[in-house]
Amino acid sequence: MSQTSKIIVSLTCPNCGGQVHSEEGETLVLCKYCNSVFSLTTDEGIRKIMYRLDVTRKKAETNFYEWLKEGPKAKDLEKKAQISEAYPIYLPFWRLVGRGKACVCGIEIQKGDKDEPDRRIPHESLVNREYIYSDIACDPGDLGIAAIRIPEHAEAVEFDDESIVTFGVTESRDDAYTEGSEQIKRQAIADGKRSMDEVHFSKAFFFEKAFSLVYYPFWIIRYTFEDRAYFAVLDGITSQIISGRAPGNAGSQSTAAALGGTLSGAVLAAFIFFGFALGALEAIAILFAFGLIAAAGIIGFAYKRFRYGDEILEGAMKGKGLKRGKKQQCLETNYENTYDMFN
Ligand SMILES: [Zn+2]
Repeated sequence: MSQTSKIIVSLTCPNCGGQVHSEEGETLVLCKYCNSVFSLTTDEGIRKIMYRLDVTRKKAETNFYEWLKEGPKAKDLEKKAQISEAYPIYLPFWRLVGRGKACVCGIEIQKGDKDEPDRRIPHESLVNREYIYSDIACDPGDLGIAAIRIPEHAEAVEFDDESIVTFGVTESRDDAYTEGSEQIKRQAIADGKRSMDEVHFSKAFFFEKAFSLVYYPFWIIRYTFEDRAYFAVLDGITSQIISGRAPGNAGSQSTAAALGGTLSGAVLAAFIFFGFALGALEAIAILFAFGLIAAAGIIGFAYKRFRYGDEILEGAMKGKGLKRGKKQQCLETNYENTYDMFN
């Protein structure tokens, strides 16, 4: 399940109307039909690429209902959930593909036993890898999306902002480039450190291969369950669940815990009452205070769980609740394209 390090973009030749292909990172295209050459960079000097929405509403809703059945979600959620709206949307991502090269020198320490001292083994590594960095370029609000994974063999088209609904780009290209290239350099050094316990020298370089703004399609499904609003986000090409919020089935347990807390408090109070009647005042007073604090704690914990924690959070979601799913990482290594040397 590796993501592609090479995006193929199909576009229409402005001269003859033929369908031609170009690779991400290319700025000039030669039309194989009419031999005309045309430039691809936009006004801001950045290439904009988009993917077509592949997943139909029906497919998105089917997968959404399957997701409602998974994991410890509320009982009969897939029967009781009401979809309030479902719509496709394009989100922009900065995507930086490049080579991270690093030279790292250091020492590996092999622990000796009582007769032998520690062995210090010097290592030198030269890392030369291709990395893919992606970062959401807009503020996605509470959608829980931070990065993108582009499926292999997916074909992109030149960006056409007339035809799609999208979020505006809020992160500057310079910030994205700096962040991406720094992360790649840091990762190259981290990969070079490998078995070293001490690093005495490290230096990294970044070589850009492609930098683009990728518009990727998603389905947003908003739904309600017992008068509360939830949502799910699906990949518009693979139809996988990317992120979402769902009610958990811990509600009944929390209620039980809350009742249990109240009950144990009451039992304790009764015990203390009789304790008072029987004497030993000091010990009873300490127990009383301790009992009150414990009861308040249990009730508070149960209330909080019931109030906030009783949710399933899928993907890169913030907040309280049971976290599930895999958060898409901003940085990935393309292992097919590495030329490392470890000594
Ligand atoms: Zn042409």
